[in-house]
Amino acid sequence: NITNRCFSSGAAHPEETGHKYNKRVFSGIQPTGVPHLGNYFGAIKPWVDLQKEDGTEVILCVVDLHALTLPQDPTKLRENIRDMFASILACGIDPKKSILFQQSSVSQHAELGWILGCMTTLPKLEHLPQWKQKSETMKEVPLGLFTYPVLQAADILLYKATHVPVGDDQVKHVELCRHLANLFNKKYGFVFPKPKVITGDLKRLKSLRNPAKKMSKSDTDANSRIELTDSDDVIRQKLKKAVSDFTSYISYEPESRPAISNLVNIHAAFTDLLPEEIVEESLALDTLAYKERVADVVIANLAPIRKEIVRLRGDTSYLDEVIRSGADRAAGIATDTYDKVKQLVGFT
Ligand code: ATP
Repeated sequence: NITNRCFSSGAAHPEETGHKYNKRVFSGIQPTGVPHLGNYFGAIKPWVDLQKEDGTEVILCVVDLHALTLPQDPTKLRENIRDMFASILACGIDPKKSILFQQSSVSQHAELGWILGCMTTLPKLEHLPQWKQKSETMKEVPLGLFTYPVLQAADILLYKATHVPVGDDQVKHVELCRHLANLFNKKYGFVFPKPKVITGDLKRLKSLRNPAKKMSKSDTDANSRIELTDSDDVIRQKLKKAVSDFTSYISYEPESRPAISNLVNIHAAFTDLLPEEIVEESLALDTLAYKERVADVVIANLAPIRKEIVRLRGDTSYLDEVIRSGADRAAGIATDTYDKVKQLVGFT
């Protein structure tokens, strides 16, 4: 039930990109924890849908360099990277069809990031909303958090991606990427097609504890999100504890009743029904009974994914092979692009 919308004009034509696909999609996810329902419906499931399209190549990156923009424990990061691979595979990404790889294994991301950083001015980054929001409560802001969108531009441009699926919070970053592509092409000669943004119709899923915030991997309260590996009992408990309001009937009013509307959005995402249709069929239920109903739906749908994640976590040699071969395939493309860049800027 997610239809993708594209915008931004001037996307590349296959002849401009030099690759054989009409559409080359690039997307990334940070290995900052087990993916939650927001990541699943907002990113991973749309990737699986794109993978099914004829003439579309999907390149997916576990962006560990980006994860370092906030403090990480090395042991936990190592575990999170493998868990992220296992989760993406369990949700249906086929590593033979799509390219799935770890960002730090392809050194050209950091190298191109540096070159693009030298072409970016402070005012271009200062007004971007995401770093402002993430740094709001920090005493000292890491430079990497500030320059994050430049590295993101390098991620996309190295693969000459034509389409980038992102949440609405990331649209400004793709605009910066298009600006840098343009600047580079004008100064040095054409290398980079300008990527189009793809945004889904899905409403951002909100924290179960505070519907003013989005559901997020890095929220310190694990009860705020449902993770793809949560057991049936944990899912039921988290939904039971989800904040609601003092009204006991079910309705879909995202502005005035964001908490219950968020549960309806979660429920709807697992069906082909609109939120209003979900409300229609749930009129007889009070809030508590409705939370049980949502728990039944979530548990039934997540159980096979959880089982597969657990199986893949245990299959270390298969995971090693996926990580290794993904890095090789990605590096093949990245090296071609970056060799051209080195020559144009005068390094070689
Ligand atoms: P972190 O909390 O570490 O920033 P995150 O959970 O916000 O992580 P990202 O790794 O930044 O997730 O994003 C991965 C993808 O998941 C992006 O495409 C993003 O738009 C999508 N996504 C993240 N949170 C949600 C959400 N609550 N609802 C829908 N999509 C989401």
